[in-house]
This record gives sequence, C-alpha cells and structure tokens, in this order.
Amino acid sequence: MMQYQRSSALFNEAKKVIPGGVNSPVRAFNAVGGTPIFLTHAKGAYLYDEDHNRYVDFIASWGPMILGHAHPKVVAAIQARAEKGTSYGIPTALETEIAKRALSMVPHMDQIRFVNSGTEACMSAVRLARGFTGRNKIIKFAGCYHGHADAFLIQAGSGAVTFGSPNSPGVTTGTAKDTLLAAYNNLEQVAEIFRANPEQIAAIIVEPVAGNMGCILPQAGFLEGLRSLCDAHGAVLIFDEVMTGFRLALGGAQECLGVRADLVTYGKVIGGGLPVGAFAARKEIMDFLAPLGPVYQAGTLSGNPLAMTAGLTMLDLLHEHPETYTSLADKTAFLHQEMIPLLEQKGLPYQINRLGSMMSLHFTDKPVVDFETAAKGNNEYFKRYFHGMLLRGVYLPPSAFESYFLNDAITQKDLEHTLEAFSETLKKL
Ligand SMILES: *Cc1c(COP(=O)(O)O)cnc(C)c1O
Repeated sequence: MMQYQRSSALFNEAKKVIPGGVNSPVRAFNAVGGTPIFLTHAKGAYLYDEDHNRYVDFIASWGPMILGHAHPKVVAAIQARAEKGTSYGIPTALETEIAKRALSMVPHMDQIRFVNSGTEACMSAVRLARGFTGRNKIIKFAGCYHGHADAFLIQAGSGAVTFGSPNSPGVTTGTAKDTLLAAYNNLEQVAEIFRANPEQIAAIIVEPVAGNMGCILPQAGFLEGLRSLCDAHGAVLIFDEVMTGFRLALGGAQECLGVRADLVTYGKVIGGGLPVGAFAARKEIMDFLAPLGPVYQAGTLSGNPLAMTAGLTMLDLLHEHPETYTSLADKTAFLHQEMIPLLEQKGLPYQINRLGSMMSLHFTDKPVVDFETAAKGNNEYFKRYFHGMLLRGVYLPPSAFESYFLNDAITQKDLEHTLEAFSETLKKL
C-alpha cells in the first residue's frame, strides 16, 4: 500500500502560508477528498512524489507535457538559453521564430501575440473582439472554462435568455451583465440570444471540444452553426484552443473539426511546460491591437526568452513528428475500448467521451453533452475511482469535471498497468 506521510506533512505546512495549500484550486483535491500528493520530480510518463511513490501521469500538467515530462530536447534548449539571460523586456528574434512556427501549423491565422497564460490570452481576445466590433456583450457556454478573468466567472441567471450572474464574489454584476450564457451544444439558445440582443454581441467564445466539464464533444453542426450565426450577426467567433491547440492535431480543433474561427487562443502545449499563452487572428483583427491600434494589451514577461525557447522546441518536435497525434489517439482509443468490458461487467452506469488524446469517464447512464448532463455524474463513485487508481499508481484528474490528457511517453505496458488498476479499483467500487 502506498504511503502519503510526507505529502500530508508538506500539505499541512503549505496551508499555513498559501491559501488552501495550493496555487491553483483543483490541486487541493477538494472534489475527491484526501490530501494532494507533493511531487519531487517527473520524467517521461511518470510522476514521483515525496513518499517515493511513482504514478503513470494522465494529466500531463493539464495538457502541456504532451511528449512526457522532462523531454531531453526541451530541457537542453532551456538550459542553453538560460545561460544567455532569462528576461530582457526588449525584442528577440526568437519571438518571430516561434510566431512563424505556430502560424505555419494552425489554419487561417495571419498574426499571433504571446502572453503568459491561457487566462491572459482569453481575456485579451475578448477585449480585442470588443474593440474590433465596437460591441460589449459576449456569449459563453455554461461549463466552458476560459481562465479566471472576471468576464468568464459567470453562471446562468434565472431566465433562460437573461444575462448571467457572478459565480465568484469580486465579480461585479456590471461585468456579469455583458456575459450571456448558453448551454453547450444548444444552437437554438445561441440564436435566441442573438435575436434578443441585436447588434450587441461582440463575440462567442467556445471550447471547440470542451475539456473543463469532463471531455465533451461538439455535436454535428454545433460549431458550424456558431460560425454561421457569427457571420450573420457580424460577431467574432473565438475558439478557446488553450487545451485543444497543438493537442488534437498540429492545427488544433480548427483543423481536426474543419471549422474556421476568427480569433483563437492558445496556452498549455504552446509553452512546452513554461508559462505561455497566445492569441491569433487574421491581420484585419490583429491590426486593432496596440501599438498599431487602439486596443491595449501588454506584458513585462510576454515573449520571455526561456518560455519562447521551451515553446518553440516543443512545437518543432511536434512539427517534425506529426505521427505523435496518431500514436496518442491510438493509445487513448485502446484505453477507452479496454475499459468498456470492465465497466459492463461491473454493471455501473457510465459514459466515456473521447476525442484524440482527450477523454473522460462519467458515472451516469445519460449521454454527457453539456454542463447539466455532466453534473449528473455520481461523484461518490468518482471519488472512490480516483483514490483507487491513485493507490495503484495511476494519477487521474482529481475532479470529474476534468479531461484526461495522455502524453506520448506512456507505453503499452503503462496502459496495461492502468487497466489492471482499473479492474482492481472497479471490484472495490
Ligand atoms: C487551462 C485553460 C485556460 C486557462 O489557462 P491558464 O494558463 O490556466 O490561465 C483557458 N481555457 C481553457 C480551455 C483551458 O483549458
């Protein structure tokens, strides 16, 4: 049996000086109970904790470590770059190089600007869309996560087509008024919002494949429908590809699903494990951005040379090895297919959603297509499932509302170990 004494002690120590002991809430295990593990290091497919336990990692730092941890080429590039100074606040050729590399991989985008997180990318993209259209309101979908900027921390209000209300203290009702909520995969609601707010909608922001309420796929016609509604009403379609970008395909969800967005946000994989976000659009939109245009956006550490080096090395590796995506999808499909008979045998209600290397298991018998159906999952089963897997050396997302992200360092042997752990865990569920 695994021991967690040191992690527990470190968590108690952390709680004295860091709120909740963590720097990002989901790490605290609130959704699954118990104490989080504290890591010493990670290599390839594995995480190593303070109590000398090893885990197969199914979150990949929530996406970025798509090739596994401490990839030798990424590490070497960061080390070499660090010798040359780690921040200047003055341009480098490196920024143009990663911009060109990223734009060559993603469809329909002329220019890109780098920031420091996915949150910053989404916040800036919305400001740019508002500046470009001269309109104030945005449409977002319940359960989609676009970072923690005020405009996104909004939940559905009482009426179906009324404006949202803050879902965090500190977000003003004034801000909430400009974020209109619809259910994921519900095109009719979006059409209704457009009808009720003529010439007021600046943008729709959407995760083209949702990954923050488990993994939820867009139904046939949903993204295409958003595209036509934006075209019909002069609104900007923002794809939040912070998760899906450089993960579902080289060109992200736009390529994978064949729908064009006007403005796209990136994060996670694009930083190769360092803090990077970015947003891209066609030139006509990007021209609105300072210093060319009136929409202000800036960052002391934006385009940071260490971060750009990690990101560029990661993108180069993916560009040189596009077979990574087939390999990842095959591994995830294998896991998915082998889990089914075990779940059937146990007779538990379940749904598995998957696309490429994103996947989630929901303990419910109804298809999971939006936040409401995702919330019907049995969380008691999920908690026991999570801890059963953890005890057997498999690290899953510590919340039923998160997607698994496979990394390509995971081997067939790791998958077999994972399935054994799954089988054992199900027996005791
Ligand atoms: C992670 C995530 C963000 C926020 O990115 P951070 O780097 O955590 O600020 C935004 N959108 C989506 C879809 C994400 O998954």
